Amino acid sequence: MKKVIIADNAGFCFGVKRAMNMAWEELISNEDKKVYALGPLIHNKQAVSKYEEKGLITVDSMEQIEEGNLEMIIRSHGVAKKIYDEAEIRKIDIIDTTCPFVKKIHQIVNKSYNEGKQVLVLGDKDHPEIIGINGWCMDKAIIAKTLEDVKKIDLNSDKKYIVVAQTTMNEKEFEKIIDYINSIDLNIEIENTICSATRVRQQSARDLSEKVDVMVVIGGKHSSNTQKLVKICKEVVDTLAIETSEELKNIDFNNYETIGVTAGASTPDWIIQDTISYLENL
Ligand code: SF4
Repeated sequence: MKKVIIADNAGFCFGVKRAMNMAWEELISNEDKKVYALGPLIHNKQAVSKYEEKGLITVDSMEQIEEGNLEMIIRSHGVAKKIYDEAEIRKIDIIDTTCPFVKKIHQIVNKSYNEGKQVLVLGDKDHPEIIGINGWCMDKAIIAKTLEDVKKIDLNSDKKYIVVAQTTMNEKEFEKIIDYINSIDLNIEIENTICSATRVRQQSARDLSEKVDVMVVIGGKHSSNTQKLVKICKEVVDTLAIETSEELKNIDFNNYETIGVTAGASTPDWIIQDTISYLENL
C-alpha cells in the first residue's frame, strides 16, 4: 500500500467553501424556487455540473433571469452595487455568497469614493472580482496590474488616493508598486487587501513536494491557481496534473512509495477524497 499525504490547505479556501455551502443549502431547502447563479459558481466543471443537476441555473447576466418565484446567487467574487440595485427594483431575492474579504474591499472603496478620493485598484481589469470592486465607485477606479501600468498613471499631488488590491494579487508585485508609490510625494492611503489563502496553499504544496516521491495536483486545466501549484511542485519533484482520479488509471506508480496530493482553490472535497481513495488502494 502506498503512503498518501494530503497538503495542508489543499482545495477550497474559506471564502469558496462558504459560498459553495450556502449555494447548496439553497438548492436543497428551496426546491420549489428557481435558483440562478450570476456567472459560474466556480471554475470547476464537475462541481458546477453537480449543482446544475440539483437545479441551479447559471446565467451570464440578469437579463437572462425571468420573473417569478426565484432567487439569485451572487458568487464569492462579488458584484457591483448596481446588481443589488437592479435586484431590489425587480424584487429578486439575493443569496449573497460574496467572500467577506471581498465585501470589505467594496466597503473601503465605496466609503473612499463618497469622501471624494480617487480609487486605485491593483489587479486584472477583466477579472470578475475587479469588475465588482469598480462597481462600488461608479466604475471610476483607475485599474493597474503591474508596476509599469502604475508608472503610466498621471498621479497628482493635489488629489487624495486610496489603493486596494485584488485578493489574489502576487504579493511581490504589490510590494514593488507600493515602494514606488511611497517614493513619490502623494496624498495616498494604502490598504493591503491581499488574501493569504493563495500564498498559504502554495507554500504547503512546496513543503509537501520536498517530502514525497511524486505529487498529484487536482484541479481544472483552466484554473490558473491550480496550474501555478503544478509549476511549483514540478520544480521539486515528479508531478501529475489531473482533474479527476480517472486520469490516474493508466499511470504506473511502481517507482513511487510516498505520494503527495494537493488541489486548487476551486477543487471540491469529494474529488480530492476520491483521488486519495484511489491512490491508497493502489
Ligand atoms: S481567496 Fe481569499 S478572498 Fe478569495 S474567496 Fe478565498 S478566502 Fe475569499
